[in-house]
Amino acid sequence: MSKRKEVIETGWNLDNSYTRLPNSFFAQINPTPVRSPKLIVFNNRLARSLGLNDMAMQSEDGVAVFAGNQIPEEALPLAQAYAGHQFGHFTMLGDGRAILLGEQIDPQGVRVDIQLKGSGRTPYSRGGDGRAALGPMLREYIISEAMHALGIPTTRSLAVVTTGETVIRETNLPGAILTRVSASHLRVGTFQYAAKWGTVEDIRALADYALQRHFPNVDDSANRYLSLLNEVIKRQAALIAKWQLVGFIHGVMNTDNMTVSGETIDYGPCAFMDAYDPATVFSSIDAQGRYAYSNQPYIGGWNLARFAETLLPLLHEDQEEAVNLAQNAISGYTELFHSNWLTGMRAKLGLYNEEEQDESLIEGLLSMMQKSDMDYTNTFIALTFDRHEDTALFGTPEFTQWYELWQMRLGRQPESKSDSSQLMRNSNPAVIPRNHRVEEALEAAVNQGDYNVMHKLLDVLSSPYSHSSEQTEYAQLPVSSTKPYRTFCGT
Ligand code: AMP
Ligand code: MG
Repeated sequence: MSKRKEVIETGWNLDNSYTRLPNSFFAQINPTPVRSPKLIVFNNRLARSLGLNDMAMQSEDGVAVFAGNQIPEEALPLAQAYAGHQFGHFTMLGDGRAILLGEQIDPQGVRVDIQLKGSGRTPYSRGGDGRAALGPMLREYIISEAMHALGIPTTRSLAVVTTGETVIRETNLPGAILTRVSASHLRVGTFQYAAKWGTVEDIRALADYALQRHFPNVDDSANRYLSLLNEVIKRQAALIAKWQLVGFIHGVMNTDNMTVSGETIDYGPCAFMDAYDPATVFSSIDAQGRYAYSNQPYIGGWNLARFAETLLPLLHEDQEEAVNLAQNAISGYTELFHSNWLTGMRAKLGLYNEEEQDESLIEGLLSMMQKSDMDYTNTFIALTFDRHEDTALFGTPEFTQWYELWQMRLGRQPESKSDSSQLMRNSNPAVIPRNHRVEEALEAAVNQGDYNVMHKLLDVLSSPYSHSSEQTEYAQLPVSSTKPYRTFCGT
């Protein structure tokens, strides 16, 4: 009887299209191996959807890949070059602590980037150590997966490994590596890099790559680069509207943290708003409130204008005409954002059709919420489930009057009360990653090595529109604290 060695297929099916861009766009470099990798969170469901063998991934060899200690056969690891406006100031950046292993082609033929974050120094590290601390990597895992479950385009998290090494920040912290999955890591900053230091042919190569990868079906009969600009504007308008609708504050909307694909990226200082206040800022370094909740739509437009500038040489050979085309496209963004937002807000209030006064109805609610420090998420839940006594304003003349207007408005649409209630359930999440819950999960994981709290949280956050009874305790507000919640960039 012949012996057959059993080989577990890993499922890695990598291509490296990024390496076919001009050389200036990346630096080929392997991850730096770590001392003793240990897999601590693994996204089974995501792995399977990518065609990866979840058993093989969790084996010693599988984990070695997530740690950067082994490279899958077809991988050509690289760090991407990019620039970016950080808080308005232009700088050269690049993957200083991230390495792209390659692009996984999933069983449906969809191509996604597989990137290790915290995998060692690269030519773009500047003064940094190329490493990441466990807390921020777990935070990215929790919030990115919650965003996905909320139906918001986002990079995903496949795995977190601890490295067995210490990273030095203000204190010594356990090191970790996150495996990030994304439609691509093309950023507005990637185009800024090409426009600043590359040739027109470099910009064209990048634009063609972006078109092929993200907008293969776009109508490019007239001006393909204008189509690219318009498509990116459309995706960002839709994305930022979705953020606003759930009270998500990104916190660091630098142009290097804005993707061309329209996915949310970079979960450093982000957080969800509790009490509705348009001026909310969580990031410890955003002293001016540049990236405050109410400023996000405007910053989106500002970043898109920087994107448009990089495409000018491709838009038209006549510079003035190119500027006109770009300006026209950009001027459509505000309206596009607004109509996405309005559609989403109507759904949150159970409205299927459109009336001119809808916006004032919505503003009326938001202004009450702001004046009375009402919780953003829970107010919409109270309206969804007719639990108005849960709202701080219950019984006040202002609320009663608003409520009557809303009920009359609902009565003017053909859909039944139960139809609008269904729409509201699908549009208003029962749970968001509340800051105190995220902190509690991170505390248990990082300081006590107890991952149960985090797994329970991940479970609850994975179906925000199911409105199950086990979600109730996760919908509760923190015991009030005098200190405002602060987030950090997590470098
Ligand atoms: P971020 O704030 O994560 O968007 O990072 C901004 C820039 O700093 C990017 O170019 C990162 O790759 C780089 N960076 C952040 N942390 C580190 C680190 N520990 N070592 C090297 N580069 C880093
Ligand atoms: Mg970033």
